[in-house]
Amino acid sequence: MADRVMSRVVSAEISDFYQIEHTSRGVQLRLSTGTVAFHGKSRVTAVETSDGEMIDADFVVVGVGILPNVELADEAGLLVNDGVVVDERCQTDDPDIYAIGDCTSHPNAIYGRRLRLESVHNALEQAKTAASNICGVDCVYSELPWFWSDQFDLKLQIAGLSSGYDDVVIRGNPADRSFACLYLRDGKLIATDAVNAPKDFLQSKALITAQRVLDADQLANTDMSLKDIANQCD
Ligand SMILES: Cc1cc2nc3c(=O)[nH]c(=O)nc-3n(C[C@H](O)[C@H](O)[C@H](O)COP(=O)(O)OP(=O)(O)OC[C@H]3O[C@@H](n4cnc5c(N)ncnc54)[C@H](O)[C@@H]3O)c2cc1C
Repeated sequence: MADRVMSRVVSAEISDFYQIEHTSRGVQLRLSTGTVAFHGKSRVTAVETSDGEMIDADFVVVGVGILPNVELADEAGLLVNDGVVVDERCQTDDPDIYAIGDCTSHPNAIYGRRLRLESVHNALEQAKTAASNICGVDCVYSELPWFWSDQFDLKLQIAGLSSGYDDVVIRGNPADRSFACLYLRDGKLIATDAVNAPKDFLQSKALITAQRVLDADQLANTDMSLKDIANQCD
């Protein structure tokens, strides 16, 4: 129902790029449009949209996001607020109970706020943190969130969270189908969306964690690697 593709996770620049990629391959997008009904007798044969359109269908894939299953935690009397609330050790407000993964709301020091992430990396790293602490080895979870998405021959790799950015730097040329969008807040890099640009994805992680004020012109200059820029900060 959103007005652009992947609007929850990427900027308008990246959405525009992917919309063009999809439509140029014959994919028809219905943006700002809801689904009101599936039609069919023994199986679905059509989908009705909120603007009254009837689209013939052989099969339907429903991708509508998730809600965490927090009923168990709720019944146990644990603090729940957009997920099971845990601290940086994956411990709930009951010291004998730990929680990890998509269902947790956990603090992130880099962004200075609570996050609830849906990613394999987060689930795996939180599992290690919880296991260490349960075994008596003090361990704090502090990871930069990252994600990926493969669409056609395009590998999108996302480092960090771009929400709240006030400036965006395009590194490379989208027409080359290899570029990166670097998102800044108060001059500091907070996230990178890299399309077929694995080096920029990897090297931007250090720049995000460094939380230093950076020069936008330098970030846009592809003659200089992000690693070199990170080294300059040291
Ligand atoms: C279609 C799809 C594509 C994805 N693609 C990617 C991707 O490309 N990259 C990426 O990083 N992540 C991706 N993810 C997200 C990734 O799968 C999740 O982040 C990850 O599986 C989270 O692990 P988890 O252990 O927290 O939760 P889950 O894997 O959801 O495991 C939770 C388990 O708990 C069980 N459970 C729930 N309630 C109870 C209960 N009351 N009692 C007992 N058991 C219970 C559930 O049945 C489930 O087996 C994708 C997810 C989907 C759905």
